[in-house]
Amino acid sequence: MQPINDAIAQICQQAIPLTTNGENVERVDLISAAGRILAEDIHSTIHVPPADNSAMDGYAINIDDLSQSTTLPISQVINAGHPPSPLAAGTAARIFTGAEIPAGANAVVMQEQCQVQGNSVTPPSSVALNNNIRLQGQDIQQGDVIVNKGKRLQPQDIGLIASVGIAEVKVYRKLRVAILSTGDELTEPGKPLSVGKIYNTNRYLLHGLLQKMHIDVIDMGDIADTLTATTDTIQYTVARQAAMGQAIDCIISTGGVSVGDEDHIKQAVLSLGQLDLWRIAIKPGKPVAFGHIHDSQQHIPFIGLPGNPASVFVTFLLISRAFLLTLSHQKNAIPNGQVYTANFSWEANQKRQEYLRAQINQEGHIDIHPKQNSGVLSSTTWANGLVVVPPQNNIQQGDSVNFIPFNEFFSS
Ligand code: AMP
Ligand code: MG
Repeated sequence: MQPINDAIAQICQQAIPLTTNGENVERVDLISAAGRILAEDIHSTIHVPPADNSAMDGYAINIDDLSQSTTLPISQVINAGHPPSPLAAGTAARIFTGAEIPAGANAVVMQEQCQVQGNSVTPPSSVALNNNIRLQGQDIQQGDVIVNKGKRLQPQDIGLIASVGIAEVKVYRKLRVAILSTGDELTEPGKPLSVGKIYNTNRYLLHGLLQKMHIDVIDMGDIADTLTATTDTIQYTVARQAAMGQAIDCIISTGGVSVGDEDHIKQAVLSLGQLDLWRIAIKPGKPVAFGHIHDSQQHIPFIGLPGNPASVFVTFLLISRAFLLTLSHQKNAIPNGQVYTANFSWEANQKRQEYLRAQINQEGHIDIHPKQNSGVLSSTTWANGLVVVPPQNNIQQGDSVNFIPFNEFFSS
């Protein structure tokens, strides 16, 4: 069994990140770009703001015109969006927020600080240079790189790109992950359940996890517990995708990866390619397979996750996520989490690092779900994070523990 961090490092080393070759990038409009990963640096060709403008509703003046109780005639009104005329010497311009500062003005006095009589205004006797002026380029200078290649675009990035007038950006294509659910016992939700069957949970769990990572899913459906059904389905899907010119970036299976007579994943991977790694020292989830399916054109990475849904959830977050993030140029480390006080005691596993489904209680301490076995998926919806328990590291109530909130797994 391999320690988890070694296993992740070994797996991620084999990830070949998307290149910027033709089919791996696309131009998308800004509205579709949220959550996508930039495949180019974005430079600004303009200053933002493009010209000095007013930060207030008030009066634009030249401070050299001021002395004790100077009264200035109002020579123009400047609304946002309309070009000003140069400020006539010895006058003030009525100006509104966002309107461009006229040539010759060098300060704006907010209206609350002025006395207005008829068509004249009396500003305070002294006003600082550039008072209430947003200077040209205060946000962005022409030529600046405003967002770097490789960044997953957040709403604020999209806003920033819009602010320099760019309508389309080059992004990496979405990753394509093919998933398959193994097990004769599986029935799809919405259908009646006959004796011996259970509902396919992992398929939906995986769709949700991949969606959160902005990854397209190729669903290979439910596979019966035979070696030929498993190999046939994989071969068929790989060939079909190749024929469509849409490469599969990774295949993820659930179940059938253990040592039971009806566990065919390992054998299927071995017969279609190579198995690089099999058992990982984590709990839940010891049997996780990593390998490659070979076809004439490529080696497709394969991750065989366990069958129990809580194990699928945890091993996906720890292992599949790291691999997929590496493919898409993102930081792949398991989030660091934070130190909290344990409101529980726990006898650690001798060899495997454990990940307990946990939540922060009202005192700000950590409670764990009372049922930690890997068949209890409800523990994952009750929880809002995982407590990491290194091997042989028993925990007493009051000890410090490392807690990783679920949302940290989805912040990159
Ligand atoms: P396996 O490794 O195939 O023996 O699966 C381990 C456990 O997970 C068994 O109890 C399976 O019934 C269960 N399991 C496997 N696949 C799924 C699935 N897609 N949805 C729900 N439970 C599953
Ligand atoms: Mg099975």
